[in-house]
Amino acid sequence: MPDIIQLLPDHIANQIAAGEVIQRPASAVKELLENAVDAGATEIQLLVNDAGKALIQVIDNGKGMSETDARMAFERHATSKIKNIDDLFHIKTMGFRGEALASIAAVAQVEIKTKTGDAVTGTYIEIENSLVKKQEPIAWQQGTSIAMKNLFFNVPARRNFLKSNAAELRYIVDEFIRVSMAFPEIFFSLSSNGQQVFHLEKGSLKQRIVQILGNNYNAKLVSIKEETDYMNIYGFVGKPETAKKTRGDQYLFVNSRFIKSAYLNHAIMNAFDQMIAKDSFPMYTLFIDLDPSQVDINVHPTKQEIKFEDEKIVYAFVQSAVKHALAQFSITPALDFELDASIQHLDAVTKPFTEEKKSSAAASSLYSTFTQKNQAHFVDKKSELKNWKDFYEPSEKKFESLLANTEQAPDDKDVPAGELHIHHSPFTKILSEAEGHHCTQLHNSYILLQNNTGILLIHQQNAHERILYERFIKATGGKPIATQQSLFPSAIQLAAADTVLLTELLPDLHYLGYHLEPFGSNAFVIQGTPADILQGSEKNAIEKMLEQYKNFSNDLKYSKREKLLRSLAWQQSVKAGTPLTAKEMLVLVEDLFTCTTPNITPNGKPTYTEFKKTELDRMFGR
Ligand code: ADP
Ligand code: MG
Repeated sequence: MPDIIQLLPDHIANQIAAGEVIQRPASAVKELLENAVDAGATEIQLLVNDAGKALIQVIDNGKGMSETDARMAFERHATSKIKNIDDLFHIKTMGFRGEALASIAAVAQVEIKTKTGDAVTGTYIEIENSLVKKQEPIAWQQGTSIAMKNLFFNVPARRNFLKSNAAELRYIVDEFIRVSMAFPEIFFSLSSNGQQVFHLEKGSLKQRIVQILGNNYNAKLVSIKEETDYMNIYGFVGKPETAKKTRGDQYLFVNSRFIKSAYLNHAIMNAFDQMIAKDSFPMYTLFIDLDPSQVDINVHPTKQEIKFEDEKIVYAFVQSAVKHALAQFSITPALDFELDASIQHLDAVTKPFTEEKKSSAAASSLYSTFTQKNQAHFVDKKSELKNWKDFYEPSEKKFESLLANTEQAPDDKDVPAGELHIHHSPFTKILSEAEGHHCTQLHNSYILLQNNTGILLIHQQNAHERILYERFIKATGGKPIATQQSLFPSAIQLAAADTVLLTELLPDLHYLGYHLEPFGSNAFVIQGTPADILQGSEKNAIEKMLEQYKNFSNDLKYSKREKLLRSLAWQQSVKAGTPLTAKEMLVLVEDLFTCTTPNITPNGKPTYTEFKKTELDRMFGR
């Protein structure tokens, strides 16, 4: 048998490796911006065409590269940022793996122009498929311009995988904001197809926040600043009244690197406890600086998760710093001052932060309450439920048995006027047998209803989600939902990233009864909304819908439209805890059982359950 193992040709190996670093235009944007920051630039311009699919160019006035470095920079594992393994644990720059430029050169046509401060001429290099095509001296100012054209031109499978321009541009804007927010002392601009999207003058962090997130935060920011030997935190949180229904404006940076941390987000949300509505999100832009050796640097550079050596310390520190600041600015209700005083005595905010204090802080009540809350075991109700198991059949089975019953469904004409009228549904039977149709609401969340064979318990929100979802499917299928024109059209101001997102959804939203028009940069005028949205709450409805949509947005299994339908169904559904009138309950029940699939929500949760009278009787020994 012949030998069959071969080494992959370099350009293929490079393309494979590149896939890890450059997944989409936005990942290249991030790498190029970070390189410019690392090069000490004070001005950085980003230009994109076709959402980065045709062109991504970053021009900086940083230290530039020598001719040799400019060539070397595109080799794999070529970096100026670490020299030995020790450096790895103290690294303060944004990049250090020396992979970004090599990856970019493997999947795009690259042109670089660069010049160092002391060189007379600059260097121009053209690279394609990881090979240098052209190199010559050029006249150039100090700094570097890297242009990458036709991303994935040689990896069609990846190119096809890219999303719409609107979606890819949204990712780019996200990355741009994350980098520019962290460096307010650097000028940044972003142009898309020749149109300027951002122009961020150098300034303070406060100015940068207002530039990016909008004027409505002006005079609405609370400054955070706490320093200890162990770590520092600084930045701003929005006053409670600026909290929004969408999570958009929340930025957390560790050593100037944007990170996502559900854990630290929880700490911040906790600090806002009682000050904002449960389902709203405060704005924050917070920077945590700590010794790089306290942070796990093995985390992949494209990932945003982070590991702290001691995350409980960080949690308590962040929470108390935010609480402290909110209290100092007299924003917390009087009642909270007491609480705040006790937090100020916590080791996490006393200085300096020594090793012993670190461990005693870990033992403090703040931690134990937190851990208890999070470790509290969900009481296992299984054993209690055992007897109930055969009490009712799972919804799936019920669906089938109900289907089988359709034929014997009695005629609608038997139902007295003013009572429920159910049509065209295999589920008709389950209700048409109902006697009296008297609905009772329990815990403002469940509707209890009697029928011939037993009782029905309906979860109002789950049921309503199903109803709306089916209604929306019909709407996008060509039966648009009626719009009520706003009497006083209001404008909604969004963060840049949300603007791109909403723009992408406009056509589908139109079918669903939302008439929105772009209005200047990052704003829309609400011309009309579906009739069942209360006048005055349109803005809120749209913000909530966007938030929910974003929760789905990493879920590749759903199309854009499907995500929108599900988000809207959830957002407009009557929530558990809402009192309903008798009439509302009747309409809801009727609508539910005219659905094609009334037994589950779009996400598969049961909408109702049926308790058979025979089974009830059996339970009571009858
Ligand atoms: P890393 O940033 O991890 O070192 P990259 O592949 O991103 O790896 O860049 C390789 C090297 O090229 C960097 O270490 C740096 O020396 C140089 N470099 C990249 N971009 C620039 C730039 N805009 N200005 C100056 N030098 C740069
Ligand atoms: Mg880099």
